[in-house]
Amino acid sequence: MISEAQLRSIVAAMASTVAAHADELTTLDSAIGDGDHGANMKRGFDAVAADADAIVAKPLPDALKAIGTKLVMTVGGASGPLYGTLFLTLGKELAVAPDDYPGAFRKAIDAVAARGKSAINQKTMLDVLYPIADALVAHKSKPAIVAVAHEAVAGTRDRKAIRGRASFLGDRSIGHIDPGARSSALLIEAVAGVL
Ligand code: ADP
Ligand code: MG
Repeated sequence: MISEAQLRSIVAAMASTVAAHADELTTLDSAIGDGDHGANMKRGFDAVAADADAIVAKPLPDALKAIGTKLVMTVGGASGPLYGTLFLTLGKELAVAPDDYPGAFRKAIDAVAARGKSAINQKTMLDVLYPIADALVAHKSKPAIVAVAHEAVAGTRDRKAIRGRASFLGDRSIGHIDPGARSSALLIEAVAGVL
């Protein structure tokens, strides 16, 4: 069970890693997108952090839903509704099965895939999120899960984008890291650093 204090630290850690890497995310998105991923993510996670007192006072499922709602309202782009869906579904699933974190995470990612009409290996955040879900189900250690995330980010480089703005580039998307994959790994590393 994640405590209120841990959730407060998670919110702060997510906002601080997104802020610290906003320029990097923007650079990645400039290569194969429109260069707004860093600004989008920073706007969203700053808004979540600014609302931290109200968010962490809620029971965990409601807090996660509040984070998702805030992200949908503030991040924008393609990634806002997708990250919003991730947190909203996590909250919804943990309300039903409070102890099944791997199960909730898997269902949340399936919801992102449904929302994005996307699947793994299309050079999106899903290329990182699904391997993390597998690592959680396999009860891998925290360092192992973080390593899986970073390897999965690197794996997006040689892939051709099939979904999202980068897909407009076709073969020219090959050779670049996907920005949403990178932000997903950063968020996972932030959460792992707290728990
Ligand atoms: P936009 O592409 O609208 O400018 P962002 O730059 O904030 O939005 O986010 C881009 C990231 O969103 C991509 O790097 C990719 O990881 C993710 N993404 C975009 N479309 C999809 C999709 N259909 N399914 C999953 N992830 C997606
Ligand atoms: Mg963009």
